[in-house]
Amino acid sequence: MIDLRSDTLTRPSAGMLAAMVAAPVGDDVYGEDPTVAELEERAADLLGHESALFCATGSLANLLGIWLHVPPGGEVLCDSLAHIARAEMGAHGALHGVTMRTWASQRGRLVAQDVLSMLALDCGPYLVETSAVEVEDTSNFGGGTVQDVDEVTRLSGELARLGIARHLDGARLANAAATTGLSLGDYGRLFDTVTLCLSKGLGAPIGTVLAGSAADMARARVQRKRLGGGWRQAGILAAAGLWALEHNLPRIGLDHASALSFARAVADRVPSAVDVDTVETNVVLLETGDARSAASACEAAGVRLSVLGPHQLRAVTHLDVTARQCRDAGAVVAAVLSQAL
Ligand SMILES: *Cc1c(COP(=O)(O)O)cnc(C)c1O
Repeated sequence: MIDLRSDTLTRPSAGMLAAMVAAPVGDDVYGEDPTVAELEERAADLLGHESALFCATGSLANLLGIWLHVPPGGEVLCDSLAHIARAEMGAHGALHGVTMRTWASQRGRLVAQDVLSMLALDCGPYLVETSAVEVEDTSNFGGGTVQDVDEVTRLSGELARLGIARHLDGARLANAAATTGLSLGDYGRLFDTVTLCLSKGLGAPIGTVLAGSAADMARARVQRKRLGGGWRQAGILAAAGLWALEHNLPRIGLDHASALSFARAVADRVPSAVDVDTVETNVVLLETGDARSAASACEAAGVRLSVLGPHQLRAVTHLDVTARQCRDAGAVVAAVLSQAL
């Protein structure tokens, strides 16, 4: 079985497991876990910020990042495809009273002017005021889309000038950086807070880091505990994250080549299913008739994909599948989709 449902499916490698077993640990709620501290320092450094906070999930890191910037009843603006809008179970509203307004985009690609024209500033008692803007890079539901750095830079500069906070959902920021050649810090410095998932293409079993100012991270640490997210000897998990940053970050671009071979194999036989030119990183979106039945047929033929919509399937490449396996998987999927047409 070649499992391309998500890049969260990777298993810890032998080297990663050994690092986890060997990690010195302590109680992180007391601030005494040296491996968590090391990961947080490393992540802060990499992401161009003063401080970082190790969280169980990307959803928790986003929840805390947005909470830092948006008071109850305030709004955050984001893409209508954003993970915070679609895939966090309404947490920002349900738990923190945050409201959202969304912009439309092509495949999740940010256009600075579209966002700037939506800002609600100095509205008096009539309209909800914009507190923050959230950007996702790469865009997951956009299909692994890499943001145009000039657009991000322009938006970031304008928002800073206006005093609007900026949060970057960088779940797959490593994939974006591998494509543009910029560093994670180049991105991080354009935002007040930034996340990076260790549990996606970086291959750790659990964990996301949130980075920002020391004052913001101190507040986020308290709120994380309030939400039940304080953890004890979490150094075992932080060790996996440190291993991932050391060994898996440099190779992440390989997943992009795998995604392209997968997409090419599909497009060779079923050109209507995927436009190869839209494959930018490790995510491939496929258009088909009935997505559910196509996914079942692919699974029966040995390839697992996820169903994103009635006519949309998603394949995500990762470090537990080789380029060769991805190409073979593409041929299998092509055979299924061509029959479905
Ligand atoms: C995966 C993902 C997250 C976080 O997901 P968790 O399952 O909560 O770790 C956040 N944003 C994006 C864009 C993601 O793809």
